[in-house]
Amino acid sequence: MQRRVIGMGVLAAVLTAAAVLAWVDVLTDDRRAPVAAAVAQVRYAPPKVEVADDVTDIDPAEVAAVVDQAVNDPRGWRTNMDGFTVRIVQPGYRGVNGIGQLVGAAWADEQLAVVTADAWMRVGPRFAAVGGTLDMQRAHIVLHELGHLIGHDHESCPAPGQPAPLMRTATYALDGCTLNIWPNP
Ligand SMILES: [Zn+2]
Repeated sequence: MQRRVIGMGVLAAVLTAAAVLAWVDVLTDDRRAPVAAAVAQVRYAPPKVEVADDVTDIDPAEVAAVVDQAVNDPRGWRTNMDGFTVRIVQPGYRGVNGIGQLVGAAWADEQLAVVTADAWMRVGPRFAAVGGTLDMQRAHIVLHELGHLIGHDHESCPAPGQPAPLMRTATYALDGCTLNIWPNP
């Protein structure tokens, strides 16, 4: 019985950062608990989150929750992101266009990453066609643009069948790699 519960906990831990806490709870009486607790203590400071004044249908608190989860996922960048800002903007903001074109951008000198409102609210058809979901698209864009802010340039698929690099130029452009949205898949 205990083994079955732990197995479910491990699966849940893979799915969400919040579930990692649940995993620790499950393992409280297990001798591996100290290790699990040490993992759970790694918490990275999220960036500041803003929603532009002309974006009226997106709740900043919900954006912040998604960004926090992406930043704190063990497959994420594994570094603090405070000092950066993630801003949801209308398409056209400084030339950043909507779904199917550019969906995010980053300015290192301002430590600012933006995601267009329509990219936040609607999965792109080409990303959906390769198996991507809206949740994956949100995390991918946020982590990709934050990746630029911590100094990463674009990368190409290293070899067919490998996880697509997070820093590819478009969410849907797998080039023979497998779908991936994490810097440390
Ligand atoms: Zn980029």
